[in-house]
Amino acid sequence: MSYATKRYWFYAFVTLFTFIVPFITVNDNHLLLLSFEKLQFHFMGLAYDVNEFYIMPFLLMFLFIGIFALTSILGRAWCGWGCPQTIFRTIYRDLIQGTLLDLRNSTNKQKRMNTSPLENKIKIAVGFLLWTLIAITASTNFIWYFVPPEDFFTYMQHPEDHLFIIIFIATTAAFLIYDIVWMQESFCTYLCPYSRIQTVLYDDNTKHVVYNTNRGAQECTACEACVKICPTHIDIRQGLQLECINCLGCADACNTVMGKLGKKSLIEWGSQKSVLHELKSSIYSKRNIMYFVAMIGSIIFAAVFAAGQEPVLVNINKTNEQYKAHDGIVSNNYIVNIHNTQKQTYTYDVKVEDKNFHIDSFKELSLKADGMRKRVLVISTHQNLSQSNRRDTVLKLKLTIFAKENPKISVDKEISFIYPRAQ
Ligand code: SF4
Ligand code: SF4
Repeated sequence: MSYATKRYWFYAFVTLFTFIVPFITVNDNHLLLLSFEKLQFHFMGLAYDVNEFYIMPFLLMFLFIGIFALTSILGRAWCGWGCPQTIFRTIYRDLIQGTLLDLRNSTNKQKRMNTSPLENKIKIAVGFLLWTLIAITASTNFIWYFVPPEDFFTYMQHPEDHLFIIIFIATTAAFLIYDIVWMQESFCTYLCPYSRIQTVLYDDNTKHVVYNTNRGAQECTACEACVKICPTHIDIRQGLQLECINCLGCADACNTVMGKLGKKSLIEWGSQKSVLHELKSSIYSKRNIMYFVAMIGSIIFAAVFAAGQEPVLVNINKTNEQYKAHDGIVSNNYIVNIHNTQKQTYTYDVKVEDKNFHIDSFKELSLKADGMRKRVLVISTHQNLSQSNRRDTVLKLKLTIFAKENPKISVDKEISFIYPRAQ
């Protein structure tokens, strides 16, 4: 099977996967969602509130180190096999303009389209229209990672109330049209930062498209099939270049030419070590091992923090007044903010562990799913707790906030209680 066929199957899988992911939910949470409206991040079926975004740095670390490791091992496999830019260009240039409309020669990407005949002009307009429809579909799919499909389709019943969504889709689609129709591969060469870092991440073990210079001098027929097919208009025989997106079109082309002569392709997918020196390449270089350790570390940290996820989010702040003292009773006031992150309504109450203290005022709170409200809490004591004649005493108190319907939904918080000096 040619690399091109394998790539097309992979593109189909990636496209399907990207479409399906926003619809998959686990316990009413999405696999991947960043909701600015609800200030939530969903990952693998777990929901994180904005105050719990502390797992984000670990996930970002994993993502970035993962990209470094992937590039160090497989070169720019992402560019040729997973990047939306490459997939979209293949759809527009090869599928729409090449196969469907017969405007292009699929084996010679250097040849310009003949735009003069009226028939071709109409075909170009049809191709543009088809791509516009695909760009709008892709942009809609993209927004589902920020506005989940169930909300999106409800909102679209009254689009005039949700103009931001329409503007977002229109802007993204307009960019995709400009990028794919006019910018083309210049995006990879001049705009994409990823192509710039490849050289620092490559070593002799990195797999990428390699022209076998050892055999080339003797065996290359100079047919230029590899040059003609290249979407980024380079000649791989001149070595690794920034423009190369590792699509392996040149390897397929040379394989066809060399195959007819009963020989192996001069252009291969392999490392410098394996292709030029015929040695086995290894992924266990010192650098890669460090990447793996860092990736495992960031996942462990993310999992530890995720496991410590609180079932209800509580924020307690002391009011400006330090304390009140009256008839031997000292009280402190607090503002308690409770956010019910559960999927159903719960009634929340508060208790204090220390028997010397009691709650003077707190009205229990009934909160719907995702509801959030503030309450005043007053705690008092009639004990003489001061140790000092010179300073106020700061005591630490443990407070439990719990759902009356389910004792498992509770969280402990430590608060400061200020007691006046003995005088
Ligand atoms: S040199 Fe080969 S692998 Fe690189 S972009 Fe051109 S055709 Fe694709
Ligand atoms: S396709 Fe192969 S034989 Fe033809 S020019 Fe390229 S490297 Fe040489």
